[in-house]
Amino acid sequence: MTPMLSVVDLVKHYPAPGGKSVLALDGVSFSLARGEIFGIVGESGCGKSTLARTLMRLATASSGRILYEGEDVMAARGRALKRLRGEIQMVFQDPFGSLNPRHTIERIIGEPLVVHNRPGRAARVRELLDLIGLPQSAASRLPHQFSGGQRQRIAIARALALSPKIIIADEAVSALDVSIQSQIINLLAQLRRDLGLAIIFISHDLSVVRHLSDRIGVMYFGRFVEQASAADLFATPRHPYTRALISAVPKLPGAAGGPCGKRIVLSGDVPNLAHRPGGCLFHPRCYIAQDRCQKDVPPLAATRPDKPDWLSACHYADEIDGLVAETASENR
Ligand code: SF4
Repeated sequence: MTPMLSVVDLVKHYPAPGGKSVLALDGVSFSLARGEIFGIVGESGCGKSTLARTLMRLATASSGRILYEGEDVMAARGRALKRLRGEIQMVFQDPFGSLNPRHTIERIIGEPLVVHNRPGRAARVRELLDLIGLPQSAASRLPHQFSGGQRQRIAIARALALSPKIIIADEAVSALDVSIQSQIINLLAQLRRDLGLAIIFISHDLSVVRHLSDRIGVMYFGRFVEQASAADLFATPRHPYTRALISAVPKLPGAAGGPCGKRIVLSGDVPNLAHRPGGCLFHPRCYIAQDRCQKDVPPLAATRPDKPDWLSACHYADEIDGLVAETASENR
């Protein structure tokens, strides 16, 4: 399938005190097909939100390429950039903070139409309210008159106003109660079905990502350490970090990733972007690390000839089951 969006070797440095710089994205590559949902998961500070902001051109990449339908997103200026911003829209975590409390819902949802000089705002807002499951009467009301879940629906309607092809949802359900989370996830799944939308769904919560995603990328320390179909990733994760994340969600059927099916509790510090270890970035916390891991950086590469899209950044992806079992028996 030809990708709609291709991200190639994206790097983002941030300036840090003392004239130093922090590497927030370290050679990130992935692709997104038309109508696909790609989930991105990882701990807080792993670079997920920086990636989202860079894709939206809210932050400038230090190097790398972003191609949308073959067009260079990073080189776009003026009208070309404005058009691209209509094609790729974002939904943020905080549904209240992202809506102006003094504006009516019609004005909020219709704002992108005004910015892009599109006619027929009132009719389009009515259509969008239908699409996200709110009554037409919502148009004249203010954000504080709605619940958190309804406000997130309104934020989604605004993101849809210009009929984008891609939505980037950055922790879009994290601030909501679990029952409301599933309603918003169902809405996103329905929008994908009805509109053919592609979605980049970013969350720290693996169970949430799993419900919605066709494929999942696991980020650690500004890099992807594994990318696979949701089914493969949960059935037999091939990176120790992915296994640890899955094992921490015991209610999942694929939760038996740890030694003897137990939860894998990672030791060592949560990564600090300012202090990068050498070799494999995960080695200080890896429960199956070998000598080589301290010096050789594992590339993100296909490790199964029958599944070329399944990528893992671990020298021992092929031997992971044996090494995990060995660790378990040593610890007994
Ligand atoms: Fe662990 Fe080594 Fe694999 Fe890195 S390369 S994840 S340290 S086993």
